Amino acid sequence: MSIKKIERIIQPSGTHFVGDGFKVHNIIPGIQGLSMQRMSPFIMLDYNAPHYFSPSETPRGVDVHPHRGFETVTIAYQGKVEHHDSSGGGGIIEEGDVQWMTAASGVLHKEFHEKEWSKKGGIFQMVQLWVNLPAKYKMSPPKYQAISNQDIPKVQLANNTGVLEVIAGAYNGINGAASTFTEVHLLNVKLNQHGKADFSFPAHYNTAVLVLAGSITINEQNVQTNAFALFANTGENFNISASENAEVLVLSGEPINEPIAAHGPFVMNTRQELMQAMHDFNAGKFGELV
Ligand code: MN
Repeated sequence: MSIKKIERIIQPSGTHFVGDGFKVHNIIPGIQGLSMQRMSPFIMLDYNAPHYFSPSETPRGVDVHPHRGFETVTIAYQGKVEHHDSSGGGGIIEEGDVQWMTAASGVLHKEFHEKEWSKKGGIFQMVQLWVNLPAKYKMSPPKYQAISNQDIPKVQLANNTGVLEVIAGAYNGINGAASTFTEVHLLNVKLNQHGKADFSFPAHYNTAVLVLAGSITINEQNVQTNAFALFANTGENFNISASENAEVLVLSGEPINEPIAAHGPFVMNTRQELMQAMHDFNAGKFGELV
């Protein structure tokens, strides 16, 4: 077993709005050249770093839109999101909760700030991640996992120096809350001052760390708030330590080595399947949602 080294650190770039409710840094597939294949199965990552939204009687967000061929994962750190989709899924993603939506063969959904939260306004912080599906599951039925924070297994780090939430995959033999189609580890790590955690993933897994709060040290290299540290596909082990309170999201997954044909909200394997997705969407085959 050897050290997994950082290949590059992607500093936060400019932000853009998704709808009018999400002010995000787009990290995957980033303008910095981090492709869908490079981070497969993580094919999209938008990070809404803490941002103040003023009170609004009309909730901000993204209105009805389709997805096909992958899963959308929303992690709410601050603020609340209300969701509805055409397969009947829906609910409120509260602070600390995770929504794991398998769009697969296709859903329509909408994502807005929760009504009461919107009226008060406040600091909003959220991650949206797209996890690709292998070809054989792309047309399987949609599925919806509403994972409340209390259902996410927690691992106490040594000497009470932090807590690790296992959203998906496993850490030290503790299995995560979400069921996944391929090997995916998604860990939310809260370190106290002088906290430290060790990680080990297969060398070929695409692995990265997003710093949500504070600054951290990975293998003795400093990584600042909002930066994204991408690991090389060699070595297995790394550690994260913090000299102040910090929070990070650790992502590691087995690459899906298949062609990617992507256009907007559709991620398939071939151009023909993309055309089919657009055709099916226009024909109303993704169901109905008002
Ligand atoms: Mn969406």
